[in-house]
Amino acid sequence: MDTDYDVIILGGGAAGLSAAIYAGRATLKTLVLERLGSGGQILNTGEIENYPGFPEGVQGPELARLLEEQAREFGAEIRFDEATGVELSGDVKTVEVSSGRLSARAVIIATGASHNKLGVLGEEELAGRGVSYCAICDGNFFRGQDVVVVGGGDAAIDEGLYLTGIASRVTVAHRRDQLRASPMLQKRAFANSKMEFLWSHIVERIHGDDEVEAVQVQNLKTRESYEYPTAGVFIYIGFHPNTELFKGLVSMDERGRIITDMRMATDVPGVFACGDVRLYSDRQLGTAVGDGITAALSAYRYISEGPSRLRSH
Ligand code: NAP
Repeated sequence: MDTDYDVIILGGGAAGLSAAIYAGRATLKTLVLERLGSGGQILNTGEIENYPGFPEGVQGPELARLLEEQAREFGAEIRFDEATGVELSGDVKTVEVSSGRLSARAVIIATGASHNKLGVLGEEELAGRGVSYCAICDGNFFRGQDVVVVGGGDAAIDEGLYLTGIASRVTVAHRRDQLRASPMLQKRAFANSKMEFLWSHIVERIHGDDEVEAVQVQNLKTRESYEYPTAGVFIYIGFHPNTELFKGLVSMDERGRIITDMRMATDVPGVFACGDVRLYSDRQLGTAVGDGITAALSAYRYISEGPSRLRSH
């Protein structure tokens, strides 16, 4: 079978690059297509302290650089381009990019997830002018100022704690009166004198002419709505999978997460999915890495042994 590549990996985050390391090392002709920059979400993460093997923690961008370097060392090609169309059903899969159509025997979907938006007035208008989804990228603009973090999960608290090192005060606005974040992060947040909480509050609107000046919040218990002054709003209210391109082509749940088996195989032979795009992902760096490795090994078996043998592993 004559194809441009053995395997095309869509997405160069932790899952995609881990898949590339294993696919490259298995001597598969491997292409990683990445829209923005290698690393995915870890590129926007400061210190990662729960990735095994790094007791002192590791900086997200540094780990991203190392993963990319390792993938290249094993022969994977990394191309910064966007896949705009895919054909996955036949034995030869094709992926459309800006320069034309590329073919491969197997495709690994590792397109990750993107942050959710609040969908309130002022969010779009003031994006990049006080509204942010990335503390590590934009935190420095708020040195010595007050900021609001929206959300109550690991991301909100982790990034909120990071911001306490920069801002004068970090107010977490959370829609319930209990955090979803892990107990360890909660303990740290409650012990941090720069962190305050607006419990059972939602953000209804973001105010400001040229830059953010305040958020309009509502106390869900009292129904009182009022302006809360702030220079920045950091929004961490979860993620959605980047699977638009694959709708109708592979099976997904109602939230667009791709359904795989334990070998990361989708219901289309030769198509695998790993990391945050898949149903039941734990959405951790370590699990994304593991998913990527499994997907690459499955792709290798699929290519070398054929789809029928894969089921027996
Ligand atoms: P998440 O766990 O889904 O939490 C989202 C938070 O946003 C929840 O507190 C939720 O409130 C709130 N929320 C959702 N929609 C909202 C809306 N429309 N308005 C207001 N609030 C809203 O998402 P995440 O924090 O981004 O974490 C995602 C995954 O990444 C998790 O698996 C997490 O463990 C992982 N992660 C881990 C770390 C770490 O280990 N240090 C760091 C970052 C992320 P409710 O609580 O009321 O639902």
